[in-house]
Amino acid sequence: MASPVASSLVILITGCAQGIGKEVALFLARDPQRRFKVYATMRNMATRQEELKTEAGNILNDTLFIRELDVTKQETIDNIVKEIIDMQGKIDVLVNNAGIPFKSWWETDPMEAYYEVMEVNYFGCVRMTRAVIPYMKEKRNGRILQISSVSGFHGIPLGASYIASKFALEGFSESIAPPLRKFNIWVSVIQPGYVATDMIKQFGDNPTDAFAKAAGIIPGEEERKIVTNMLTSDPEIVVGNDMLDPQDLAKQLQDVILSPKSDFRYQTSKAIKRLAREKFVDPTGNAIMNAWLKQ
Ligand code: NAD
Repeated sequence: MASPVASSLVILITGCAQGIGKEVALFLARDPQRRFKVYATMRNMATRQEELKTEAGNILNDTLFIRELDVTKQETIDNIVKEIIDMQGKIDVLVNNAGIPFKSWWETDPMEAYYEVMEVNYFGCVRMTRAVIPYMKEKRNGRILQISSVSGFHGIPLGASYIASKFALEGFSESIAPPLRKFNIWVSVIQPGYVATDMIKQFGDNPTDAFAKAAGIIPGEEERKIVTNMLTSDPEIVVGNDMLDPQDLAKQLQDVILSPKSDFRYQTSKAIKRLAREKFVDPTGNAIMNAWLKQ
């Protein structure tokens, strides 16, 4: 087995058991130029590592390393960060990908459901970011890619707890990014719309179908009708009708990692770029509110 090149970028990714995390880890670790050493971490190695191991084949323990890390458990984070620093001497890139979706309707959700989604999607990213920052500062070099969402800047009348967790992540990231740039550490929020993973495919094959089905969780008939109508009559207000392939997202993330300077925000499709343009030139927030209400 060939050893990785000395100048490889060392990348730590969370939530690699499936979905975006797994695809991004494999894409980067398979780089023909061997520019990356990828630590693909997952919450439960015992039950989930086999799939990734099989797909990794001969890059396992060469450019791809699988480790256990639960973003809600500080000791698992500290263990992996220490191991990487001991073995590789640095962490160049952190991809905060682990996330969970909302479970039910915001009015009837127990408060525990709000805490749970914040615990993973927000506090998990905070824990990870704080764990790697001292080593990045020491090297005066680093990239942090927060896998946020279109839901990180655009409220959608469903999944309020999930969306709130992504807004929190964006607020945190926007606050830490400017001073960290002085240490040559570049923080970016990545704002995908629909990506074809299990998180979404469980609801349907295209965004409109997925929303229509997801809105079925709303207990009250009147509200269910209102929200279903809002979510399905104009797909453009949500995320457009595009479903991004995780491989396309992986390629976009690679470009961010390799660019000499990264932007703070990346929207991963035209439809989301359009939403972002509307949002960020409207200080009152009325344009988007009216767009929702016209339906
Ligand atoms: P997914 O459900 O397929 O994968 C999520 C991964 O996170 C899984 O491997 C899961 O085991 C892991 N995870 C959950 N809790 C964890 C914890 N406590 N510690 C470590 N890992 C944990 O979902 P996905 O679609 O691949 O989503 C990945 C990220 O992308 C999430 O942050 C999600 O919010 C975001 N995102 C997804 C979409 C989409 O359409 N799929 C769109 C925008 C943003």
